[in-house]
Amino acid sequence: MKAIALISGGLDSILAARVVSGLGIDVTAVFFKIPFFCNPKKPGIKPEDAIRKLTGSLGIKLAVIVLADDFLEIVRHPAHGYGSNVNPCIDCKIFMLKKAAEFMRSSGSQFLVTGEVLGQRPMSQNKQSLGVIEKESGLEGLILRPLSARLLNETIPEKKGWVKREALLDFNGRSRAPQIELALKFGIKDYSSPAGGCLLTDPHFADRVKDLLNHNELTVENVGLIKVGRYFRVSADVKLAVGRNEAEDNRIISLALPGDFLFDPPADVAGTTALGRGKFNDQTIQLCASIASRYCDLNGQQSINIIYRIFPLEEEKIITVSPLSEEELVKIRI
Ligand code: SF4
Repeated sequence: MKAIALISGGLDSILAARVVSGLGIDVTAVFFKIPFFCNPKKPGIKPEDAIRKLTGSLGIKLAVIVLADDFLEIVRHPAHGYGSNVNPCIDCKIFMLKKAAEFMRSSGSQFLVTGEVLGQRPMSQNKQSLGVIEKESGLEGLILRPLSARLLNETIPEKKGWVKREALLDFNGRSRAPQIELALKFGIKDYSSPAGGCLLTDPHFADRVKDLLNHNELTVENVGLIKVGRYFRVSADVKLAVGRNEAEDNRIISLALPGDFLFDPPADVAGTTALGRGKFNDQTIQLCASIASRYCDLNGQQSINIIYRIFPLEEEKIITVSPLSEEELVKIRI
């Protein structure tokens, strides 16, 4: 028998895949890469690479499916609403399951495995939500949740004898102790999620997403921008990201699109790079330069030259500005 296991990168989904592969089922793990994953501990490592390393160590192959604009539509208009921040968890799960069902059928697999644990998350992992998710994804009876299966209705894989119900588990609630014990049994020592967390659940990041939503600017490219460094809403038409260190400066430069404005201090002044995006005029150019200068070493000077150019043009212009006051800065920093 063959099954598809949805892998979020969190320990539960890894354990669920491992439990089912341990029952002799040919399991393919599927990782949906959305624009909102971030692992602050391993910023330079792609989430799919970190997950592949882990699934590979467990003898499970991995397929990666990239979700971009179609996923953003769910963040814009979640039919089942948001969780505590801008995380549309129920709609996200339904969407991913529908995509996984397509993959399941095309790969000749018989059922689907997820790592949900009953009662672990108030919004999306109670019995009612699990039922809604299953029904709306068109996979009734075909989703096996091995970590809590003995507390849930019998699924088709159990009824047909593809997996034995008594070999499945009865985890319930928010305690992590049973998962940690099982991880040790399987030789999984690093419990941190290799893909990092979903930024949609982070209150600070959620404010930045709301800013894009309010300005009708939620795109994959703009999500990239709000994931780096400091973020400012300069005007209704212009936003600015400012690096906090060399790595973020390089990241910001790599995100530049044609028409974006790049602001830098002169070569002999310590400071960071800023990237502005939107419809600029003289006033917003001045304001962005003034924000960027706030993070430069002025060495006691009242004003500074900021160099700016319109990407990808090489032609540079110079503007002399004074740093924006802290009072003004906090009004536009998100
Ligand atoms: S936390 Fe993020 S990735 Fe996970 S279900 Fe919710 S929206 Fe989807």
